[in-house]
Amino acid sequence: MPATFQLIAAHPVLDFVNTLDNRFIDAGPTELLCGYADLLRFAEQAGLIDAKRAGALARRKNSAAATKALAAALELREALAALLYGRWSSARPPSADIIKTLERKFLEADEHRALVWNSRLSDQGATSRVDWAWGRFETNPEFPVWVLAQSAARLLTSTAMSRVHMCHSETCRWLFLDTSKNHTRRWCDMKVCGNRMKARSFHARRVG
Ligand SMILES: [Zn+2]
Repeated sequence: MPATFQLIAAHPVLDFVNTLDNRFIDAGPTELLCGYADLLRFAEQAGLIDAKRAGALARRKNSAAATKALAAALELREALAALLYGRWSSARPPSADIIKTLERKFLEADEHRALVWNSRLSDQGATSRVDWAWGRFETNPEFPVWVLAQSAARLLTSTAMSRVHMCHSETCRWLFLDTSKNHTRRWCDMKVCGNRMKARSFHARRVG
């Protein structure tokens, strides 16, 4: 039975950053993306790719391309983490290297768009046009990384950034998007926060 990710962040990019768990405790961190199959499972559970696509990509999980894609995902995740957590530390603003890495990742995602013909006929006449889609790039093992990068680019350049917070629990510090009406959310999830170490240790191996 594959493990289920605890998606509490109200945004897939923040849930993605939370896949390196226990970032700020002495015994941490705990890597939840130990292989390419974990990345696919996360992307599917977070609604970034559909089950059919995840299944097709999973057939290549032991390829060199899959190993490269996982490394690219982790590089993206840690650059995002450095930038997002850095906002709470005036002593350590994100370095120029971090910004450059994110710029490269976001531009890479943009480069993998296919121009597709959308044929439409309606009462108003022909409204056919071309649209941008992932198209043939959906079969590349790096596809989930590009989807994440595109979503991250949108989030990081939006006003929603002011509602990205971290859990108030010192041993948690998971990120989330505060979608509460009065912007008063303080915790990732009261139930999850208290129990997650226990709940997850069965599938996560410790790194670092
Ligand atoms: Zn928490």
